[in-house]
Amino acid sequence: MPEGNEVHRWAARHNAAFAGRKLNVLPGPNHRFGDAHLVDGKKLVCVHAVGKHLGYEFTGELYLHVHLGRFGDFTEGTGPLPEPKGLLRAVMQRAGSGKSHRSVKGDAHALTGPYNGAPSKDDGTQPFPPEDVDWWELRGPTDCSVYDAKKWQALLDRLGPDPLANEPGDHDDPKRAFDKILAKKTSIAELLMDQTILSGIGNIYRAELLFRHRVNPFTPGEAVPLKTLKAIWKDSIPLLKAGMVDRRIVCTEKKDRPSGKVVAERGEEHYVYRRHGKPCFVCGETILRKDVAGRTLYWCPKDQKTTPAENASALKQGTSLRASRGASSRRR
Ligand SMILES: [Zn+2]
Repeated sequence: MPEGNEVHRWAARHNAAFAGRKLNVLPGPNHRFGDAHLVDGKKLVCVHAVGKHLGYEFTGELYLHVHLGRFGDFTEGTGPLPEPKGLLRAVMQRAGSGKSHRSVKGDAHALTGPYNGAPSKDDGTQPFPPEDVDWWELRGPTDCSVYDAKKWQALLDRLGPDPLANEPGDHDDPKRAFDKILAKKTSIAELLMDQTILSGIGNIYRAELLFRHRVNPFTPGEAVPLKTLKAIWKDSIPLLKAGMVDRRIVCTEKKDRPSGKVVAERGEEHYVYRRHGKPCFVCGETILRKDVAGRTLYWCPKDQKTTPAENASALKQGTSLRASRGASSRRR
């Protein structure tokens, strides 16, 4: 699932590509985007990003809201649009664009230059400077619909502070997130993922931030020292920014990487995320995992000082998550 870093990256690119221009906004062939005509042909004012939500603001105070969810993704390109393929939900295109056609698929790596090897599968978008992007296609989002100003504002009001916030307003002030966390008995692991408390932090960053600050993920919010919450917030900003630029989430420090290299090698980007069953880079203890509120949590029992009972609740190595999941909830 894209976390805040990825969403803010799309916003920055699409601002550069489309802001101030008249655009064609079209539904895919399955017609699951019935609102397209509301903004088609209008001028894009700018693209907003808050947490995991994108808002393409058009003249007339209309916002095309996109939430990528777990499976949504953009494909970008230059020149004429390709034939609609797959589960295409929406297309955005510069009105009157297109001469030579250059596809995003194909020899992406040859065009990328110093490419870090992002785990994302859609790394084909990397070669395009945003000013060359004539169109994007959107597939698999949780939402793609047009909001009026009131509905957009209501969404903003629901979302917690965002470490990547770059807009006026209170999304850059973490105080209300701290207040909420300190009033709750819910585990800090769950609270960090709750988008009404903090927006933009997903499963990778929550696991890694808790490890980096040596916090037991099962600690109730009310028992986490304010000093630790402040440190987590402060730390999240450069981590998310780096992920935004690189399209690769790297949370390990050079000194902790087995390779000792400045650029993390494959498999040493994270301390705990998806490293269950492997030894901790710092203490050597085996990393554990468990399903919490429908998403898998990873932790180091020694560095994060979890209790024997908490450790015993971890999934046994080799257990299928699907089998353990049952009635799970999705978080936005
Ligand atoms: Zn450890």
